[in-house]
Amino acid sequence: MDPLQDVLDSARRHVDALTASRAEIVAAAEGANGDDEHDPEGATIAFERQQVAALLAGAERSVAAAQAALAARAAGSYGRCEECGAEIGAERLEARPATRSCIGCATQRSR
Ligand SMILES: [Zn+2]
Repeated sequence: MDPLQDVLDSARRHVDALTASRAEIVAAAEGANGDDEHDPEGATIAFERQQVAALLAGAERSVAAAQAALAARAAGSYGRCEECGAEIGAERLEARPATRSCIGCATQRSR
């Protein structure tokens, strides 16, 4: 079991699933489109499309983060904060295998 590989695999599955839902929404939008632009369906579809796009962007970031963490591990720098260079800590790595910053830097950034 490789937690980092697991994170990457599940993020990729997430991207695939969201890409499929986006395609469905786009297809539905094309089907609903046409006679009436004030169709209430249209607003719902636009909203769903936005939601899926936001989720997809998040999932793509997770894939990129997991890939970067795998690359860091290959380079021997995995487990070090890329901002301050400190050890990230086993507990945090267990909870978030793809993270590249220590809890201190992550907390500072979200403030
Ligand atoms: Zn740090």
